[in-house]
Order: sequence, then structure tokens, then C-alpha cells
Amino acid sequence: MPKVSEVLAGSLLDRLDAELFLGEVLNFTPTELFAQPDFAIPETALARFHAFEKSRLTGKSVAAILGRKEFFGLDFFVNENVLIPRPETELLVEEILKIAPRSLLDVGTGSGAIAISVKKNLPHCHIVANDVSPAALAVAQKNSQNLGVEIEFIESDLLEKISGEFDLVAANLPYVPDDSHELQKSVADFEPRLALFGGADGMDLLRCLLRQISKLAQKPKFVLLEFGGGVQTEILEKFARELFPDSEITILLDLAGIARVLKITCSMEHEAHNT
Ligand code: GLN
Repeated sequence: MPKVSEVLAGSLLDRLDAELFLGEVLNFTPTELFAQPDFAIPETALARFHAFEKSRLTGKSVAAILGRKEFFGLDFFVNENVLIPRPETELLVEEILKIAPRSLLDVGTGSGAIAISVKKNLPHCHIVANDVSPAALAVAQKNSQNLGVEIEFIESDLLEKISGEFDLVAANLPYVPDDSHELQKSVADFEPRLALFGGADGMDLLRCLLRQISKLAQKPKFVLLEFGGGVQTEILEKFARELFPDSEITILLDLAGIARVLKITCSMEHEAHNT
């Protein structure tokens, strides 16, 4: 039976990926793996490792292969029906937590990463999360059960079937332009198109959601939308200003300095009229 050190040295994968997979098949923590280079790998574990290795060499991400991804310190189950949570989306969660709304609507929840991370940190917040994809909702539901939080899930295309009032509406909708060639292979080949692409400039769904929000009888106090930065920034900001002329509109940067979140602090129209 080959040893840990031999298999790591002989793998075609990046060292880190090989260590992750080996830790997974042996049920070892990174420290345990590091401490036992001479551990003999049983045959079934080795076969699983080679299957992971083969899959990784096709370009599939480690998260997609293992079926889980860490987000906001929580372990999320993922499959081919959802976007794999991205670290930059943690900015959106942090902003929601700063506002600490009493109610939240997470539009296009996917794996449920945003809604569930918020609920874990704001247990008294009433959270509704929707998605157009029943398969994605099944993943979100599973995650909410695994992580022990209660969220109301609704199958709905944007706000079509949503009623009620929310302090905050947040969304990480698809925003990649249809003809984008910038996506990594691990994304373009293995993540759902429905969760990625948003029309010619990527912003069809963002615009549609903003229009729907602007028409609500009871507007939320805050809107937080993730988008792609770059050329989208000015277009989205202008669009939001036209729809919400009396509201405060800000753009938040992610840790890489990329414009990432559009924040609308809605003016309370009835209050404005009274003054
Ligand atoms: N940031 C993601 C990517 O570029 C896209 C996520 C999204 O469309 N919401 O892979």
C-alpha cells in the first residue's frame, strides 16, 4: 500500500488540492496528514483519491468535486444546480449584518449562502429566500436544515410570487455578460448557466429586479445587490439613480478593490411629504 508522502509526490495535482483530497478520503485533518507521511493508504481510499484527481484534471473545482464549500465560516452543500458561493459575496453578508434588518428577502438564493449566513448571525431576523430554480431551492433547503436555521423558501422568478414587506432586499443574481470569455473553465463548464449569465451586458436581471422593487407599494428601507464591477458600475449606478431619484445610492468595494455591491438607502416618501 502506498504511503501518504508517495501519493502526494506522485500526484499530478497542485500540492494543496492533492492534500485536500487525501485528507478527505482518509478522514484526516491537514495536521494529521502532515504528521503521518508514512501512513499506508488503504485501497478503497486510494481509489477514491484517484477518482477525485481525475475529476480535478478535467477542470472541475475542488468545491464542486467534494460537494461543499465554506462561506462565512459555514459549510455549505453544493451541487451542479447552484452557483458555488464566492468569497467576495461575504461583503454582501457583512453589509446586511451591519444594517441588522428585522426582515430580509434574499432574491435568487441559490445554495442559500446569503440567507443562511445572515440567519446564523441575526437569529431574530425574519428571512424569506426565493429562487426560480426548484433544484436550487432543494439545495438551499438542505443547507438550512444542515445548519439548523429556519428560512421561508419560495419558488419565484424574482419578485413575481413574493408578497409582504421587507426591511432589506438583497440579491446575488447572475451578472456575467452572455458572451463573456473571462470565466474560468471550472466555472464556465461546471456551474449552472442560469446562475451566471444575465444578458448582453450581464445586467438584465439586476435591472428587472430594481424595476420591480421601485414599483412596490411598500419599498424596503435598503437594497443591496452584488454585481460585477468594471464597466457595469456606472451603468448600474445611473439606472438606480433614475429609478430611485430621492434615495442614497452608494457603491461598495470588495477586498480586491473591485466595485461589488450597489447599496440603495430608500427614502421614506411618506415622511418626506410630511416635512
Ligand atoms: N462572480 C461570479 C463569477 O464571476 C459571478 C457570480 C454571479 O453572476 N452572480 O464567477
